[in-house]
Parts: sequence; structure tokens; C-alpha cells
Amino acid sequence: MEKSLDISVRYLKGIGPQKAKSLNKLEIKTVEDLLYYFPRRYEDRTHFLAIKDLKEGEIQTIKAQVLAKGVKESWKKRGFKIIEIAVGDNSGKIFCVWFNQPYLKDYFKVGESLILYGRIERYSGRLQMNSPEFEIVSEEKEDSLNIGRIVPIYSLPAGITQRNFRQIIKYALDKFIPQVKEIMPYEIRSRNNLLNLAKVLINIHFPENSDLQKEAHRRLSFEEFFLFQIPLALRKLKRKEKQGIAHQVTGRLLDNFIAALPFRFTQAQEKVLEEIKKDMASPRVMQRLLQGDVGSGKTVVATAASIIAIQGGYQAAFMVPTEILAKQHYEKISCQLKELKVGLLTSSLNKKEKENIYQEIKDGKVDILIGTHALLEENVSFKNLGLVVIDEQHKFGVAQRALLPKKGLNPDVLIMTATPIPRTLAITLYGDLDISVINELPPGRLPIKTMHFNEKGKEKAYQIAKSQFPAGNQVYIIYPVIEESYALDIMGAKKMYARLKTGEFKEFRLGLIHGRMKQEEQDEMMRQFKNKELDLLAATTVLEVGIDIPSATCMIIEHAERFGLSQLHQLRGRIGRSDIESVCILISDPQTQEAKARLESMVKYSDGFRIAEEDLRIRGPGEFFGKRQHGLSELRIANPLTQLQLLKSSREEAIRLISTDPHLAMQPNLGLKEKLLQRFPEYEKLMLVG
Ligand code: ADP
Ligand code: MG
Repeated sequence: MEKSLDISVRYLKGIGPQKAKSLNKLEIKTVEDLLYYFPRRYEDRTHFLAIKDLKEGEIQTIKAQVLAKGVKESWKKRGFKIIEIAVGDNSGKIFCVWFNQPYLKDYFKVGESLILYGRIERYSGRLQMNSPEFEIVSEEKEDSLNIGRIVPIYSLPAGITQRNFRQIIKYALDKFIPQVKEIMPYEIRSRNNLLNLAKVLINIHFPENSDLQKEAHRRLSFEEFFLFQIPLALRKLKRKEKQGIAHQVTGRLLDNFIAALPFRFTQAQEKVLEEIKKDMASPRVMQRLLQGDVGSGKTVVATAASIIAIQGGYQAAFMVPTEILAKQHYEKISCQLKELKVGLLTSSLNKKEKENIYQEIKDGKVDILIGTHALLEENVSFKNLGLVVIDEQHKFGVAQRALLPKKGLNPDVLIMTATPIPRTLAITLYGDLDISVINELPPGRLPIKTMHFNEKGKEKAYQIAKSQFPAGNQVYIIYPVIEESYALDIMGAKKMYARLKTGEFKEFRLGLIHGRMKQEEQDEMMRQFKNKELDLLAATTVLEVGIDIPSATCMIIEHAERFGLSQLHQLRGRIGRSDIESVCILISDPQTQEAKARLESMVKYSDGFRIAEEDLRIRGPGEFFGKRQHGLSELRIANPLTQLQLLKSSREEAIRLISTDPHLAMQPNLGLKEKLLQRFPEYEKLMLVG
């Protein structure tokens, strides 16, 4: 009885093996999965618009009958097979057209009633809907699921129709609603005005009215946020209880470092360093996320934090996503910290070199170790790891991030990101971390001028590039490489390089760098470019993160539509690093609205926070944060962007709950605990261990 929502959908009336298979594709295995498979949208079919009242350009729903001799089939020139039907109601008629779906020819019967949903358009004087969604409705039979009400529309694979699926849902609701157990403690429901679960499940599928539909949506969104916030709240609580290292935050080493810098910290850097110092001085474990736009000076703050660890006798580890970046940091920090032993560990070291450095790390000879994910290898063990810095956190998975701190005894952790999101959102989404923000750029930086040219405008872009050279400035030309067609794209980049080298830029010194080159070759390229032995560097996205060469003042990004918005902003961050005005030129003929929106945002905004917000809005949270990266992929109907207030209240409730009943052992919280363990089995340890 208790577990009955767990039974397979196979046991529902009307679901045979074939249908069960289709449902499995939607990850619907149990009745519970089914009830939690929410509609994609709704249609109010309590009344329909008359055809004469339809508005061109709008997406609307109508109910109409297939007219006599209404079904036509024709071939159009470019091989398109077109099915056209005329439908009408008492007020007028409209044509519906489908392309390349010849089977529809025998689908419609004269006199039959259809519900059609699509954009209303006008072609040569007549009203038309192109490829509308449709349902055939039966007039005679009682059809209360599909008509005369607010009707759910689901995302479904071929093989299951909307009507069919509604029937299945209805049947499951009728049969299983009495078994639905409320998981949300009464107090929380009452404080947040949340409907009870049974009522919510009914109304998310078959809303009695639109208010109840909205309330159902609100309650289920709250539930999703809440389930996602509890583990975060619990993790934070556990961390605060853990014994960490109380670092010695003042000292000669740090003073000397700061005094020797060729610049003064910005106010924002100053403030963030104070926050870090406070954390590090405390015996609790620091887990701080440092957000700041590209070029805002996060690295130097992280270096200062490393020095704090070192001056008290600890080691620091600094993990970055690429080898080029590791080397750049290594060189810079080695120069800045002449009295300290700085180590570099990347996977391209040979066996001997690796063994050497492993030994030095183990003996505590290395004060600060900089490297790529090679730091995570088993052989790396520290004598006394006191601080972990992770740069460009979004490049690492959650699991990878958790590995490095395990190499010490509760070391402090500083995580940095140049893809900042609004603070309120960050606080809730990274709820287990404390958050610092560098919200200003070092003084004297000129804004980068960003332009969008189409492919035909390329020549002009190259002219602008050339105009950089006389003053001794340098240019990047970026070419996209995407994972799926890696080899092909590298070929593209090479081809472009060859073309530019023998054509447009033949009088200039041009280099090429991409991820398939040997590490030494990449290093050599970077060295030459840095030493101004090259004017122009053609590159793939190996350049994306962190590279800091101030004399590069111009960037041309080819096929800019193939990059994500945050990625474009990161790339652009490679220029504008001096007091000379830099230009970024995006070359692209965007084919989709989304691509167009990205390019427009790049031209319009230079602030990384703003860009990230746009990116989040355009791509949605799931894509933005990456599927495996974040519990966010658990969110099905909740949207942190549009429901920020709800997210906040769910977080407050989660914190309150965890502080009173951290193990969810009290009677009213048992249902919740069961649900959580079912959702996130990996939290079992977290929940159960004291
Ligand atoms: P981020 O890692 O945030 O992208 P970096 O730490 O690489 O930025 O800093 C970018 C550049 O700005 C570096 O060359 C750095 O030395 C310089 N820089 C950092 N802080 C300041 C400052 N307060 N004033 C002037 N230049 C700074
Ligand atoms: Mg950086």
C-alpha cells in the first residue's frame, strides 16, 4: 500500500509493452514518474475564437470542421509534398498546410471536428496556418478530457497521442490520488500558502481553472527548489561544524608581496581580500566563491590568499583548466614570489619530472603548486595543504572540484569564476558556498569596442586588424572548434590560417595555435606572440581562459554564431588589457534568432554580469550551468530566473528546517527525507552521518 506509486506503469490500464517502451523513453517508469511528467503548455478550450476574430501573426487555437473537398495534396517545385485542408466554422474558413507529411492525406475526414493550434498568417489573401498542432475531436461522444476545459499539452514522442496520454494520466490520477503522500511538512506549506500535493497533481494536469493551475505550478516549483536547497543547506551546516585551519593572516610575506605589486588593489579587491582573510583566520573551513568579470584581477587576490597560507607554514594548490594558463600563472607568480618555491604540474611533464615534483610536494619543498587537473592524480600528496584555489570553476565538474581539498586536512577553498551570475541568484544556487564579488575593473581600462560584421564584411575587419600593427599592437583571430567535429574544425582552422598567411596577411608574421598541437609547440607559439615575434595569432578556443597579453588589442572571431555567449565574452576578455582602446569584431551570418540575440548582446553589453544574465535567459538554467554540473538539471518546471522570490523562500525554509532537524529525523519530516534520498541517493551519507 505505502509504496504503490512506485509500481510500474505497465500495470496501468491501457498500457501494453509497446506503450511502456515509449513511456520509458520519457523516463517514465513508475506511476509516480507519470504523475510528475508535467504538461509543456495548456490550451483553454472552454471557448474558442471564431475564425473571423483570429488575429494575424498570433499563435491561436481554433475549433473547426473539415470542409467538403477540403483535403488536397500537391507537389511543389523543390520536392516538397504539401497537404492542405480547408476547415471552417460558422464565421469563416482557414487553410491548414503541412509540408512533407504525406501520411496526413488519409488522416482527415470531411465533417470531422479539429482543434488546431498555430500561427495565423495570410497568404495571397487567404488565412492560413502552417504545420499547426492538431487534434481530432469527437462531437458525439462525451469528450470531457479533451474539450470544454483547460487542456494539458505534453511533449510526447511519436506513438503516443495527446489524447491517449491524457487518458493515461487521467486514469492514473483517478486510481492513485488516494495513495499520494504529502511530503511537505504542514508548517512549511502553511507559511508559504502551498496547496496539498494531491490537489496539486490533479490541477497541474487537469486544472479546474487557471488560478489553480498557477497555484499547482507554484507549489511544484517550490518543491523542486526546496529539495535542491536542503542538501546545500546541510552541506553548509556540516562545513561550519568542521575543524579547519586558523591561518596566520598578517605577516611580512604578504606585506612584501602587496608592496611589490606595480599597482594598488582596487576597492573591490581590497574588500574581497578582507573577506578571505576573515575566513582564513577562522578555525572553520572556508568555501568561498569569488565572482568577477574577466580581467577584474581575481588571480592576484588568489595569490595573496596563497601567501597567507604559506606564511603560516602551509602549502597552497592552484588548479586551472588549461596548460597554457597554468604556465602563465606559474611564470607570473614565480616572478612575484622570488623567495618562495613555486611548482608547476601538468600532464605533459615526463615521468621523471613528475616524480621529482611529486617528491617535492610530499616533502613540503613546494610552497605553491600550480597546475591543471594533473593535480588530482593519486600520486600527488601534500605535506601540509592549507589552501586550494580553483580557477574558472565551470570548467571542472563538481566531483573534480571536491577531489583537490581531500588532499589536505580540511584546507580552505577558494573557487573563482569569470562567468558571474547575479548575486541573489548565486547565493541560492551555490547555497553551500560563501560568495565574494569583485565588481569593478582596475582603473584606466578602456571599454572594448565590439562590432558585428557579416561574412561579406570580412575584408573591412581585416583592414581594422592591419591598422593595429604600425603601433606595435597585436591581433588574435579566433576560429571555432566544437567537440563533435573536432578534427574537421581543426582542419578549418588550419585552412583559414594557410589562407590568411598567403593572402590577406602575407606581409605580416602569423602564428597558429590549437589544442591538437604538441604542448611544446603551443608553448613556443605563445612565447613568440608574447615576445612580439608574431603580429597575429590564429587560434582556437585554447585561448579562451585567462591568457593575459596586454599588447593584443584586436580580436576577430570567425563564425561567431558557433560560440556561446559566455564563451564569446571570455574570448573578448583576452583583449582590452591595457590603456589602448581594443576592438573585437564578430564575423557571422547568424541563422537562428538565438544566435542573433547572442551577437546583439555582445555588441551591446561589456559587463560580464550582464552578459551572464543574458546568457542564462537565452539558454535557460539547464544549459547555462551544464547538465551534469549542477543539481539544477533536476529542475523541471521551476525556473530560478523567473521565480527568484520563490527560490529565496524555499532556501530560507531549507535553512530553517536543517537547523532544527539536520537529519530529518522528526516525524513531520520523514516523508521529505524519503523523497530526498530517492532523488539524490548520493546524499545518503550526508543525511545520515552525524
Ligand atoms: P582575472 O583573473 O580576474 O581575469 P587577472 O587577475 O588576470 O584577472 O588580472 C588581469 C590583469 O590586470 C593582470 O595583468 C593583472 O596584473 C592586472 N591587475 C590586477 N589587479 C590590478 C589592479 N588593481 N590595478 C591594475 N592592474 C591590475
Ligand atoms: Mg583569471
